[in-house]
Amino acid sequence: MMNETYSIGVDIGGTKINTGLIDARGQIKAMTTILTGSETGYEVIADRVVRQVRTVLDQAGMEITDLKSMGFGVPGTVNSQAGLVLYAPNLDWREAPFTEIIRREFAIPIALGQDTHAAVWAEFLFGAGVGCRNIACLTIGTGIGCGLVIDQQLYLGGLKYVGEVGHSLVELDGRPCSCGNRGCLEAYASGTAIQKRGRELIEDIDGVVQDPRKGLTTQDILKAAGEGRQGAQQVLDEAVSYLGMGIVNLIHLFGPEKVILSGGLGSVEDLIADPVRAFVKERSYSNVADLVEITTAELGEVAPMIGAAFLYRDHRYQFRS
Ligand SMILES: [Zn+2]
Repeated sequence: MMNETYSIGVDIGGTKINTGLIDARGQIKAMTTILTGSETGYEVIADRVVRQVRTVLDQAGMEITDLKSMGFGVPGTVNSQAGLVLYAPNLDWREAPFTEIIRREFAIPIALGQDTHAAVWAEFLFGAGVGCRNIACLTIGTGIGCGLVIDQQLYLGGLKYVGEVGHSLVELDGRPCSCGNRGCLEAYASGTAIQKRGRELIEDIDGVVQDPRKGLTTQDILKAAGEGRQGAQQVLDEAVSYLGMGIVNLIHLFGPEKVILSGGLGSVEDLIADPVRAFVKERSYSNVADLVEITTAELGEVAPMIGAAFLYRDHRYQFRS
């Protein structure tokens, strides 16, 4: 077993935390999932992550010294050199020295990165981006995130806020966004935006909602649109047009060979990916439209966890003490 190299990848999401023991080919050898409990703060969460790492090692019969490194993907901006989560709105973390707590427990190299960056790196190494030099991976769920691989390198930018496609502007004086701005893509094409618009446009909401305790969900809207219900179809048509705009802009800027759609909404082939392809074909430079491939993700929701395990090995995402 020990001829293989292993790392730990941890994806800290707004609702749950996935921790996995990953081999050099991206295979998950052991994994656990817990609820985040984001209201408890980063110290408590760090302690729980430490226990989760130990659980995963126990499952595999390994020790921490058997590992090459450990990496974390978080839903926010980070200062990877300082091991600091600068701002993660879904966790309510600001300037959180998260990796410092982890480092006290485990004497191995630790890397910290943004979850969307970890996800695109996993798709590049082992998923839908294999064989490409330049890819963009959009995660369309509650919000819209994006990671970029340019010339086979994870693109980190210079200002730490790279790939914020969800906050690219698609309307001058448009809908308010959670970031405080107006007219952001996220306010038109995220799951949250689709739910909100669904409540405005779907007439028979009670007939569409599948679980009254949850209220109107994006799944309800997708199902209703699939059945041809008019309001639901209009909600998706609008969202797809805006998403298409964001993607056309992205393609014209970076020229990726592939745009990978992931997340709860992005991976819906018939109602999201297909119409997005049609929009992009119609609205981007024709020579670009013929070349770029828009595809759904292959690794699913474990992509950020798998990619996080390779952040230290492959990138400048290193904790320097
Ligand atoms: Zn915004």
